[in-house]
Amino acid sequence: MFDNPAFAGHESVHHFHDPDSGLRAIIAIHSTARGPAGGGCRMWNYGTSLEMVTDALRLAQGMSFKNAMADLPLGGGKAVIWGDSRKDKTPKMFRALGRAIDTLGGRYWTAEDVGVSPSDMKEVATQTRFVAGLDDGAAASGDPSPVTARGVYLGMREAAKRGFGSDDMTGRTIAVQGVGHVGGRVCQMLAEAGANLVIADVDQEALAEISRTTGAKVVEPGDIYDVQADIFSPNALGAIVNPETVDRLKVKLIAGGANNQLSSPDMGETLNQRGILYVPDYVINGGGIINVAAEISGNYDPAWVETKVQGLVATIGEVLDQAESEGRPPNRVADEIAARRLRESA
Ligand code: NAD
Repeated sequence: MFDNPAFAGHESVHHFHDPDSGLRAIIAIHSTARGPAGGGCRMWNYGTSLEMVTDALRLAQGMSFKNAMADLPLGGGKAVIWGDSRKDKTPKMFRALGRAIDTLGGRYWTAEDVGVSPSDMKEVATQTRFVAGLDDGAAASGDPSPVTARGVYLGMREAAKRGFGSDDMTGRTIAVQGVGHVGGRVCQMLAEAGANLVIADVDQEALAEISRTTGAKVVEPGDIYDVQADIFSPNALGAIVNPETVDRLKVKLIAGGANNQLSSPDMGETLNQRGILYVPDYVINGGGIINVAAEISGNYDPAWVETKVQGLVATIGEVLDQAESEGRPPNRVADEIAARRLRESA
């Protein structure tokens, strides 16, 4: 554990095994300095248990940073379950996970992530109260993606003030990759603000719907990187800014909701050299966790959510201004601010 390159001073790492349901899970708690560790539960068919623990460590630290940048009273943690979510999942397994989470006494709160749905979380909730992202219940926050999308849209406009000298979206061209829960809503807001959209997705139905309602032009998924546009908004996959795509981008600004957009942090330097302003993904997509945090607080208050989203937008401005004045990539500056916020809360 302590030799793992992804180990970053994590407070604790727990492994759980339930022979009855076949559950094999790891819960990594990176930090509880700002509050209970918050972060979703991922189910993934890892090749080895080393891959599994490395992913848990990396994701947990990522949640500490995301929660700190969203100024939430939450630390960072993550649960990972080893298995194929399409074949191996059972309600029993998620009840076993719920019991495992309960043994941590509230140091870790879970919610959905890749491979895990609200109905799985319902099973978890039969065994522990340390679970969010539920569809019903006293403080249920439901689908977080509308809040994520609002944060992405407002964050994009904040960045446009720096990139273009104005946040007016009228007549701007935005290339949007992925028009699902987040990307589709970002498209709607941009269209209402008078922007021209070029969209790509692998889901033909989603494409047709967004194109019909916003007048967006559709391109093939592989062609979205070549679109001549003002802004690229990735809202589908990770690692889409990589050595193969970075020289194809013909935009001034990247602002989207997808997680882990850079294939490696040094892509930030490459974007800087190419004069492309990058809004760090884990800052601009913090709306979803803000929504979840409102549920964890036990009293879902839309006004509190909006205040936190506005705070997130201000933080984006801060990150971009500091990056500009120091001539450094915004992702490096964001990591530094997040680490400082964590140290100050310790
Ligand atoms: P979603 O599944 O609803 O939408 C993703 C869309 O991307 C789908 O329409 C899918 O068909 C499309 N897609 C898949 N492969 C593609 C490809 N090769 N090219 C173009 N499009 C492709 O997911 P979502 O909830 O909208 O989340 C989108 C991204 O934002 C993910 O990276 C997610 O981790 C991240 N994110 C989401 C939230 C949230 O609140 N939903 C919060 C934070 C981060």
